[in-house]
Amino acid sequence: MSLPVQTHIIDGEQVTPAAGEYIDMIDPATGKLTGRGAAGDATDVDLAVGAAKRAFATWKQTSTRERAEIISHMGLLLGAHLEELVALEARCTGLSTARLMAFDIPGVMQFFQTFAENLEEYAFVEYPPVRTLPEAHDVKIVKQPLGVCGLIPAWNGPLFLAFVKLLPAIAAGNTVVIKPAETASLAVVRAVELLQQVVPPGVINVVTGHGQQAGAALASHPDVAKISFTGSTRTGREIQKMAAETMKRVTLELGGKGPGIALPDAPVELTARGATMAFLLGSGQICVSGTRLFLHDAIHDAVVERMVALAGALRGGSPFDPATTLGPLAYRAHYERVLGYMDLGVAEGATLACGGGPMTVPGFEEGLFVEPTIFTDVTPDMRIYQEEIFGPLLSVIRYSDIEQAIAMANDSCYGLSAGIWTGDPIAAQSLAHRLEAGTVWINDWHAVTGDMSFGGTKHSGYGREINIASMESYLETKNYMTSFETDPCAKALFGLVHREA
Ligand code: NAD
Repeated sequence: MSLPVQTHIIDGEQVTPAAGEYIDMIDPATGKLTGRGAAGDATDVDLAVGAAKRAFATWKQTSTRERAEIISHMGLLLGAHLEELVALEARCTGLSTARLMAFDIPGVMQFFQTFAENLEEYAFVEYPPVRTLPEAHDVKIVKQPLGVCGLIPAWNGPLFLAFVKLLPAIAAGNTVVIKPAETASLAVVRAVELLQQVVPPGVINVVTGHGQQAGAALASHPDVAKISFTGSTRTGREIQKMAAETMKRVTLELGGKGPGIALPDAPVELTARGATMAFLLGSGQICVSGTRLFLHDAIHDAVVERMVALAGALRGGSPFDPATTLGPLAYRAHYERVLGYMDLGVAEGATLACGGGPMTVPGFEEGLFVEPTIFTDVTPDMRIYQEEIFGPLLSVIRYSDIEQAIAMANDSCYGLSAGIWTGDPIAAQSLAHRLEAGTVWINDWHAVTGDMSFGGTKHSGYGREINIASMESYLETKNYMTSFETDPCAKALFGLVHREA
């Protein structure tokens, strides 16, 4: 594959960046240049928002049937180019093609299915029953699109995170400007380029660039009605402040520090395999990763012993090799940050059960691979317990009292994911009720279906994504109140100001 040099896609056209600058994207598995993306700025964002605003005037008038058909064609078109898209995604993220084909792509295809199949039945108009007191009114509640939506996803699953926002936004009748993560935009830009074949110009635009420039310009643009953001809690706060100036709606999908609680009756093999997958899928670079594991005394040692063995069996390598089970971290600054947390864990007095440093992978000496790392004897005062690390690092905490485990699990500023490992999954549902998280898995982790209503609480953000209801946050609700009483003297409120009549 030749080195892609990508432009923005604005109003159906390839548009070179106004400042003429590009961003190098590095393959984290090899350390080599893998493509270049346009370094957009406020001028490019303004152009894209203008195109989206013009396109909105006609797109909002399309019927749900037309939009459902276009969404269905979009899915087919991308399906015909999967191999190319997956290769681009793997090259700039280091995510394995096995993971992309088993998790990200089926997820994206489920989003297409959800919106293509359910859009026509969605209640864009509601007719509540007529209330006769104090006066009969016919009430109609209408849901209308907001306008131009700015979509800002993170780098850890670029296609998945872009399409989970894009589909509800355009299905609702909005137009969009996407600002993908600067380190990993190759597949998203190519996908948007392909989609121009089936979507009217200006409905889906993409402007690449750094967060501080292109991202901030989008989040503060006066003609953008809504920002949907996935990324760190720190940037989420900035976005919220920028959006406040122009009263934009905001959806924030932010960080997490997912607690898993293994009950005394949890099957050891299920727990060990599940909890290992929960913190190592995507090399731990997933917002919902299970990164704090509370193990009951009765099974602590057996589970840790088995997890250490399982973690040691993971293989680093090419994202294109089906045997690869552990990918690199996404970019160098992040890699160094994660290694810093491994040193910190030792310095804070946790016990290193396995890993703790860089991983050497023969043939990939320049790759950003890190050993799967498990710390035991972790305590709540440690930073490795409290902070989101976003790498293959697990903190294990021993407990003996379930009330204490629940309190510790909830003692976090985050509230995105949690899990329970148990011998009694039905009974565990009442426990799930007590965990402060948007998603609680029981005897599983990371599973996603198109029916989920996904999102966080506390500093993990707010708003929900994935299922058809996620369209709500891309719609404005409006009431039509119609009275059929034409005698002014019989009208309930008129009399309050027309006493003399
Ligand atoms: P990040 O906040 O640095 O960047 C995310 C996006 O925001 C990128 O596109 C970036 O260019 C842009 N951005 C950065 N600064 C900006 C600014 N000032 N204004 C506007 N846009 C700006 O996050 P990241 O490090 O790329 O991603 C990792 C984080 O994302 C982790 O905290 C992870 O938990 C979170 N995440 C959350 C979810 C979820 O659904 N809750 C999913 C994936 C990742």
